[in-house]
Amino acid sequence: MTNTSKTIEVQPLSGFKKALAYAVDQKLAPRIQLGSLVIIPLGHRKTLGIVSSLTPESPPASVERLKFVLSFVREDPVLSPDLISLARWMSGYYATSIESVLEGMIPAAVRDGTGEKTKRMLEITKLGLTDKGKELVSRSPKQRVLLDYLSQQAGPAPLNESIKHLGVGESVAKGLMGKGLAIETKDSVKRVAYSDDLTDSADEIYAEVKLTDEQSQASKEIKDSLKKNCFSTHLLLGITGSGKTEVYFEAMEEALSMGGSVLFLVPEVALAPQTVSRLRHRFSRQGEQVVVWHSHLSAGERLDAWSSITQGNARIVVGARSAIFAPVPNLRLIVVDEEHEPAYKQDENPRYHGRDVAVYRAMLNGAVCLLGSATPSLETLHNVEIKKYSKSSLTKRIDGRELPLIHLVDMRKESLREKIPPILSQPLVEALRQRYTDREQSILFLNRRGFNTTMLCPECGYVEQCKDCSIAMTYHRTDGYLRCHLCSHRKPAPRCCPECKSFDIRKKGHGTQRIEDIVRDLLPRKTVVMRIDADMMTKKNLFREVLNDFRRGKIDVLVGTQMIAKGLDFPNVTLVGVVDADLPLRMEDFRASERAFQLLVQVGGRAGRGDRAGEVFVQTYAPHAPSIQYSRKADLHGFSEEEMELRKEFGYPPYRHLIRHLFRGRSEEKVEFYAQQWRKVLDAMPIPQVDVKGPAPAPLEKIKGFYRYHLLYLTGSVRPFLEQFHSRRADFPLDKDVHDVIDVDCHQLS
Ligand code: ADP
Ligand code: ZN
Ligand code: ZN
Repeated sequence: MTNTSKTIEVQPLSGFKKALAYAVDQKLAPRIQLGSLVIIPLGHRKTLGIVSSLTPESPPASVERLKFVLSFVREDPVLSPDLISLARWMSGYYATSIESVLEGMIPAAVRDGTGEKTKRMLEITKLGLTDKGKELVSRSPKQRVLLDYLSQQAGPAPLNESIKHLGVGESVAKGLMGKGLAIETKDSVKRVAYSDDLTDSADEIYAEVKLTDEQSQASKEIKDSLKKNCFSTHLLLGITGSGKTEVYFEAMEEALSMGGSVLFLVPEVALAPQTVSRLRHRFSRQGEQVVVWHSHLSAGERLDAWSSITQGNARIVVGARSAIFAPVPNLRLIVVDEEHEPAYKQDENPRYHGRDVAVYRAMLNGAVCLLGSATPSLETLHNVEIKKYSKSSLTKRIDGRELPLIHLVDMRKESLREKIPPILSQPLVEALRQRYTDREQSILFLNRRGFNTTMLCPECGYVEQCKDCSIAMTYHRTDGYLRCHLCSHRKPAPRCCPECKSFDIRKKGHGTQRIEDIVRDLLPRKTVVMRIDADMMTKKNLFREVLNDFRRGKIDVLVGTQMIAKGLDFPNVTLVGVVDADLPLRMEDFRASERAFQLLVQVGGRAGRGDRAGEVFVQTYAPHAPSIQYSRKADLHGFSEEEMELRKEFGYPPYRHLIRHLFRGRSEEKVEFYAQQWRKVLDAMPIPQVDVKGPAPAPLEKIKGFYRYHLLYLTGSVRPFLEQFHSRRADFPLDKDVHDVIDVDCHQLS
C-alpha cells in the first residue's frame, strides 16, 4: 500500500452483513465520497458496495493485505450519511440484512449502474425527409414505417418507445442510421413521471383560507419546534374535518423557508388524490417541485424522481411508506398523515413501520416529525403521555360543523323481526331512500374486503375451505367460481352441499358486490350505485373515475371497504352506513378493538363534511362493546383510557414491544416440532425480561401450502432481546424444510 492510497469502509450489497475495509488507489481516492457506489472484490466475486465510512474507526491490522476498490458505478453519493445510519439501525432493530434495507433505498436502475440520466433518442436527418431518403427504404417496409413515424414527429423521438410502439426491432433503427436517414441523440429531458394522473383536479378551485384560531395556534407550536433546529416529534391530534392539512402546509412552508426539505407520508398515494393536488397547488405556485413517489412509477421514472431529489431540485416528496427513504438533502420536516394506519407497516422483509422509521430519521437529522391523526395509535398516545412527543389539538371542525349523529342499530333485534337476518336494516334502508329523494349522497361501508361471500350450508354448517390455506373460500359471482384469497386456488362452486347434499347451500356473508345488488333492489330504479374495493385498486383509472364521478355527484350511493374511510372528502355525503361494525372485533388480535374504534370514527368523519349535517348508521351485533360505544361520540380519550388499562394489564403494546417469531414449512409435523424444540431452548436458557407465548398455530394456519406456527415475545426493549435471541438461535439448527422469520413490532397477527 502506497502513501497516497487510503483506507475506507464499504458496505457490500450482497452476502455480507458487515462493512469491510478496502484500500483506494491514488487514482480513485480524490473522487471517492461517502455514499459512492463502487465495485469491490469479495471472496472470488465482484460485488456492489456503498462507501460507508471514509475514516474507519480501527484501521485493520494488516493494511498491506487489503483489497482495492475496483471502480465506480456512481461517484455522487447514492446514499446520504443519514440514510446510511438509518439503514444500519433498521437492519439491527428489525433483525434483517442491511442489503434488504439498502435495496429499498436505492432505485434498481441506480444499483444496476444503468443509471444514465440521458435517454436514447432517434431523430430523422435532412436526408431522411427527402424523396431520395424514402427511396432508400423502398425495399425495407419496416424501415419505411419507422422513417414515416419519425417524419411525423416534431423532434427527436425516444428510441425504445418508438420501436416498441411500431413493433419493430432495434436493428430497424440501426438500419436507418446506417443509411444516414436518422441519428441517435441523447436527451436529458426529464420524463414528466409525476405530473401524472393522480392529480385529477385541474378544475378544482382552492380558495385561500384564513386559518382558524386553533389552526394558527397549532401551526405556531410546530413552527416553534422547527425553529429550534433540533429533533422533536409532534402529534397533531385533530378530529376529522378540523383542517389538519392546512397546519401541515404551514409547517412545511416554515421548513422550506429555512432552506430545508420535507417528506410527506400518506398511507396510500392513490387514496390521497386530494391531498396530493392540494399540495401541488400550494407549493408549485411558489416554484417548488413536488415529487410524488408511488408504486406505479416505472424504473426510469423512479430514477428521474430520485435524481431530482438528490440534486436538490425537488424539496418536497410525497408518497407512501417507502418515500421515507427519499434522499432529500437537509431534511427539516417529516409529516406522517393518518399515522395510525396499519398500511405504514410493511408485511414483508424488511418489516419496518414507516412511522417509527420516520421518527428515527427525523432524529438522525435533528428534524421535526409531525404525526397527524384523528384517531392516533395507542403507541403514539402513550408517547405523548410519557412526554416523549408533544401535542397540538384541533378540537373543532371547520366552520363549527357538528360531528355527525351516530345511530347504533342492534342487529340482534333486527334479526328477530325476520327469518333471515337482514343485511341492511330497516332504519338504514329508510335513510338511504330519504337521501335519494333529497338528492344527497350516501356511502355504505364494509369491513370485509372485496366481493367476498363464503359458502355455508345452513343445514349442516359445512363451509368450503381452501385445501391449502385453512380459510373459507369466497364466491365470485362473475364466473361462478370459488376462490382462495391467499393462494388464488379456484374451483367451481358446488350446487349442493358436499356433506349433506342440501340444495340450500348458499352465500353467507356479503361482499361489496352483494351489497351493491341489494341496494339496487331496495332503492328506486334510477339510483346510481357504484362500488369500490381492493380489487379495483389494480385498475388505477377505473378507481379514479369512480371517485371523480362520485365527487361530481354522478353517483348516489357508493359501496366500499375500509379504503373509502381514508382521507377522502366528499362534501355532499350526508349518510354513512356501516354494514358490519363488529368484524374487526371477531378477529384474533388484541388490536381488534383499536382498529374498530379507529375505523368507525374515521368513517363517521366522512359524513356531513359540506354545509349539511351528517348521519351515521352503525349496524352491530355487539352494541355494548367499548370500541363501538366510544366511537359514537368519537370519544378518543374515553376509549384510549379504557383500552390502555387492558393493554397494561396484559403487558401488550404500547407497554411492551411485541415480536413475532414465525415458523413455516410444508410439513405440519416438522414445523410444529421445531417450534416446540425452540421453545425448549428458551425454557432452558431463558432470556431475561421477556414473556414468551406459544408456539401456537398462526391464525392463518396454512398459506400457499405452507403451515405456520408462531411464538410471540413481549419485551420492554428490542435490542437487548434480539442480541440474546440471535446468540441462541445461532446454535439451533433448523430442518432445511422449515424456515423462521422475526417480525419486530408485529402489527397484523395473521
Ligand atoms: P382533516 O384532515 O383534519 O380531516 P382537512 O384538512 O381535509 O381536514 O380539511 C377539511 C376541509 O376544510 C377541507 O375541505 C379544507 O379545504 C377546509 N379547510 C381547512 N382549513 C380551513 C380554513 N381555515 N377555512 C376554511 N376552510 C378550511
Ligand atoms: Zn389458498
Ligand atoms: Zn350441508
